[in-house]
Parts: sequence; structure tokens; C-alpha cells
Amino acid sequence: MVFEKARAKINLTLDVLGKRPDGYHEVEMVMQTVDFCDYLSIGSRMDGRIEVRSNAPFIPLDERNLAFQAADHLRRACGISYGVSLDIDKRIPVAAGLAGGSTDAAAVLRGLNKLWNLGLSIPELAQIGAQIGSDVPFCVYGGTAIARGRGERIEPLSIAPCFWVILVKLPIAVSTADVYGAFQLNDVHRHPDTHAMIQALKCGDITQVSDQAVNVLENVTLSMYPEVLRIKNQLEKLGSQVVLMSGSGPTVFALVERERRAKRIYNEMRSLVKETFLCRTY
Ligand code: ATP
Repeated sequence: MVFEKARAKINLTLDVLGKRPDGYHEVEMVMQTVDFCDYLSIGSRMDGRIEVRSNAPFIPLDERNLAFQAADHLRRACGISYGVSLDIDKRIPVAAGLAGGSTDAAAVLRGLNKLWNLGLSIPELAQIGAQIGSDVPFCVYGGTAIARGRGERIEPLSIAPCFWVILVKLPIAVSTADVYGAFQLNDVHRHPDTHAMIQALKCGDITQVSDQAVNVLENVTLSMYPEVLRIKNQLEKLGSQVVLMSGSGPTVFALVERERRAKRIYNEMRSLVKETFLCRTY
């Protein structure tokens, strides 16, 4: 049995460059892992079956579960006949823009690589992960990285931003497909500048990070769910230094340098929105 933490991600930038012939959107994103996670227990089974258990009532436990798919893809890729038992202690809200399913899948790839002594490298695991979902390769790498293509081409960055993160998830589930479906490239007022964001992170200058924090999907989600804008405004009013929606939403995150300010904002927001979480960049 192995135990893996499956950490959530936030998007410090999210750009859509156009639509590809295969129907996916070409994206460029600066992604950041945060220390807020699901906990997975991963074991081998002799009967060849993959069994998923979870405390979360809203996720599928069969082959639709991304963690199930990860186990299946990995054992096929490596010619392994063992089954797998997966226990997912779910803390990351589902359909929230935090890559909850993808990070579980990545944790299974890392965990089984250890359990079965496969000796696969991170890029090899990420390549298997790309067959499961576009966000899985980033979740395999973790840390800070640029994601390109449909999100699966990862350029890891050796920067370690050090900020407090407040995550606020309203009780609405946003479909990533619906947001991309409503997205119009012509409506984008400002595209993020990936290079400038990386420079800002390298300098550790939170004011510059705030200037460069742009997510082109934000206006699409805000027009569908105006209550997300109220959360953004609230976080700004409370003194957050960076405020942005993550992925296709609805989670909004705030970045803050100082612990006391982070805890004050967290406590204020938690009294308004139940699913408010305090963590750090990882
Ligand atoms: P992303 O940011 O990558 O778009 P998300 O955070 O918006 O992802 P998820 O939490 O990954 O969304 O959930 C998206 C869908 O995936 C849900 O409909 C859920 O039922 C399904 N799903 C499959 N496996 C899992 C899993 N292990 N954990 C959570 N959701 C899962």
C-alpha cells in the first residue's frame, strides 16, 4: 500500500490562442500547485479488478473516475495484470477549476510507479497522463509550470513562489466544456503575457504578479454566474493582493504575502462562503 497527496492547482494565467482542427482549444497557462489536497491510499489486488472507494458522494466510482483510468492506462502501458484498490479521501471541491480529478489521476500514476517499482520518469508518467486528461501531465509534474497545446505540453519552471492562497468556491458546479463552448476569441480584451508573469514570479513581486494575472475565461464564467464577480470584489475589498478565477471557475483565489492578512481574509470569507480554504503555494 502507498499513500499519495493529490494537490490542487490554480491558474496564474490562462490564455486561449485559438481552436485546433481536433476541436480542442490551443491554450497557454502558467499553472501553480497549492498545498490543498485529496489523500489517496493505493494498493494492489490479486483479482485483476480496479476498485475505487471515496468519501465524496458526487464522483463516479467506475471507469469514469480519472483515478480509475490512470490505474488502467498505467498497467496496460507496462503489461501488468494486478488489480488496484483506490481509496480517495476527497477534500478538493469537484468541478471547481482546481483539477481535482486530474490530480487524483496523477497521484495514482506516481503511487503505482512506486508500488510496482516501474522506474518510470516524470515525463514518461506525464505522457501516460495526457491520454487521460489535459491537466493530468501538469499534476504529475507539480510546482510552477507553463502548459501549452491543449494543456498537456509542460515546461517546468524552477521558481518557487511563496504566497498564502485563499480559495473560495461558491456552491455551483461549472462545466469546463460549457465555458469553452461559450468562449469567443474576438471578445478577449486582454491576453496574458506569459513571459511577464514568469518575470514577476522570479522577482517575487506580488504587485507585478497581480498586474499579470489574467484568465481569458473569466468573463465567460462571470457572465454565466455574476455571483462569482461579487466574490472577486469581496476578496479585493478585504485587501487581497492578487484575485483571479482559476481555470473555468467557479473557484476564485486570492494571493497574499502575509500570514496575518491571509488568516483575516480567510476568516471573513468563510463566514460568507462555506467552501473557503486557506493554503500555500507549493
Ligand atoms: P479542471 O480544472 O481540470 O477543469 P475541475 O476541477 O473543474 O477540473 P474536476 O473536479 O476534475 O473538475 O471534476 C470534473 C468532472 O470529473 C466531474 O464531473 C467529476 O464527476 C469527474 N471526475 C472523475 N473522476 C474524478 C475524481 N477522481 N475526482 C473528482 N472528479 C472526478
